[in-house]
Amino acid sequence: VHERARGPIRVLPEDVVRSIAAGEAVVDLAGAVKELLENALDADATSVNVSVCVRAAGMHISLHVSDDGRGIAAYDLPLLCQRHATSKIASLQDLRTAHTYGFRGEALASISQVARVKVVSMVREHTHALEAAYHDGELVAGFPKKVAGNPGTTIVVEDLFYNMPTRRRSMRPASEEYRAVLDVVGKYAIRHHRKSFTCKKTGAVTSGGAGGGASGGVLVDLRTTGCDDARSVVRTVYGSSIAQELTELSVVLPEVHISGSCLVSNANYNAKRFVFVCFINGRLVNCAPIKRALLAVYGDLLPKGTYPFAYLDVSMPPEDVDANIHPTKSEVQLLHLNALLQSLSQKVSDRLKSAQTSRTYLVQG
Ligand code: ADP
Ligand code: MG
Repeated sequence: VHERARGPIRVLPEDVVRSIAAGEAVVDLAGAVKELLENALDADATSVNVSVCVRAAGMHISLHVSDDGRGIAAYDLPLLCQRHATSKIASLQDLRTAHTYGFRGEALASISQVARVKVVSMVREHTHALEAAYHDGELVAGFPKKVAGNPGTTIVVEDLFYNMPTRRRSMRPASEEYRAVLDVVGKYAIRHHRKSFTCKKTGAVTSGGAGGGASGGVLVDLRTTGCDDARSVVRTVYGSSIAQELTELSVVLPEVHISGSCLVSNANYNAKRFVFVCFINGRLVNCAPIKRALLAVYGDLLPKGTYPFAYLDVSMPPEDVDANIHPTKSEVQLLHLNALLQSLSQKVSDRLKSAQTSRTYLVQG
């Protein structure tokens, strides 16, 4: 065997690979919150509390997410922040049909790569909680420790992006970062309207200039208490001016096993920005084709430069959705996208038109 000449291509060292992957899975504060929320929901939590502290435009970011879910047992703690360690899938077949938010075992690994992670967790049947701290995916020596606690899990993320100066510098003003967090929590609160959610800031989230709002940068916290209908939570999150102009409709495509329920604004409502909340199989996604289709329907009815509100909750067989095309899972590929678009556009358009006709009729009558 001849000794190979050393060329310019080399396999990157493990720590460099890990750092690249971490940067992709958790891109910002709201992204980290989303991952932790999803873990809480995967653990069957009924109550999730988020609290965020951002000081001085991203110089010190910390984050607590607590849930009353099933908790993490002592034997799982050493693996918690290891890459590709997950309790949610075990095989390729599971990957195709996974119904949990998580399946990659990447979020906590990534977060522990770019922040200090602490966990306090108690399995419901146990008498005490365990505390553990992580650094670069590894359990810190001396942990886990027994501590007092409540059933469920609290994940504390301190100094997010402490080792990524560029990402920290490119962060938006604290108020905007917090607003993005509130936005994510609010959307999950609507989708999981039977559960309760809170989101608050601690310490100084300063207004940071742009986008501080009429209230001079004082940002309102979110509290939902769990109720039977999504519309009430839309009211809590987005206000009654939206909630009272919503019409409910369903999209059912039996031949491809798609069903969905939607709350969309009627032609009385129009706003400066499009609020588009779209869940597919429970996953918050940014499905641009659906967004465009809705805009096309409303475009004919709303004044120029104004937009509707739309909340969609669509389910279909898991094997017809590919949630694995994007590192943050925010984009998905749907097998029967066209059929869905067509049916949805038709339904919304019919509803808006029939509402208009009945209004005209009322006025004339
Ligand atoms: P994934 O969600 O893809 O499995 P994560 O890195 O987000 O990967 O989490 C790793 C594992 O840690 C999960 O599979 C789960 O077993 C456990 N875990 C994380 N957060 C919680 C939580 N809030 N409650 C219970 N278990 C959790
Ligand atoms: Mg996860």
